[in-house]
Amino acid sequence: MRLAIELANTLHARQGELRDELQTPADLAAWLDRVGALLAVPVEGGSPLAVSRGDLAAARDLRDAVRAVAAAASTGQAPDPEHVERLNAAVRAAPRWQELVIDEMAPAAATRHGTTAVPGALAEVAADAVDLLSAGRIGACAAPGCVLLFLRDRPNREWCGNACGNRARVARHHDRHKQATPQQGG
Ligand SMILES: [Zn+2]
Repeated sequence: MRLAIELANTLHARQGELRDELQTPADLAAWLDRVGALLAVPVEGGSPLAVSRGDLAAARDLRDAVRAVAAAASTGQAPDPEHVERLNAAVRAAPRWQELVIDEMAPAAATRHGTTAVPGALAEVAADAVDLLSAGRIGACAAPGCVLLFLRDRPNREWCGNACGNRARVARHHDRHKQATPQQGG
C-alpha cells in the first residue's frame, strides 16, 4: 500500500458509476485512520479525529492533482502545471525532518514535521506522490470505465488488476473485429 495511490483510489467506479469515499470531513477522518500505519508521523487530533471542511477540501484538491498528473504521465502527456504546483504546495505545507531520539538508551532517528495535524498527513501523502511519480511508478488503469491508479511494478503494466486486464483485452478484441463505437464498460 502506498499513501498516494490509496488517496487517489478513494475515487472509484462501480458498474459505470463514480463513487467518492471522501465526501465529508468524517470520511477523511476515517480514511486517515485507515492509512495511519503508513504515516511516518501519526495524526494527532483526538478521537474521533478533528477534521475540518478546509482539510477535506485540501485532501480532495491533492487527490485531483495526483490523479491528473498520473493520468497525464500514463498517456505520455505533459501534466497541467497547475496540478503540479498544487501537489508541490501540499508537500511544502509541512516541512519534514529527522530528529535524534534516545530509544532504550540507543540513539535513533524519528521523523517529525512542522504540523502534526491533517495538513502534515496530507504533506506525507503528497511527498509519496512525488516519490512515485518521479520514478514512473504510478499507472492509471487503461481499462474502459476504470478510474483506479496502481503501483507500477513492471514498466509495461497497463491495468490495475487481472479483472481489468481481461476486460480490456476483450474490449480490444471486440474493437478489432467490429469497428463499432466504443462502449462504456462497467
Ligand atoms: Zn482497473
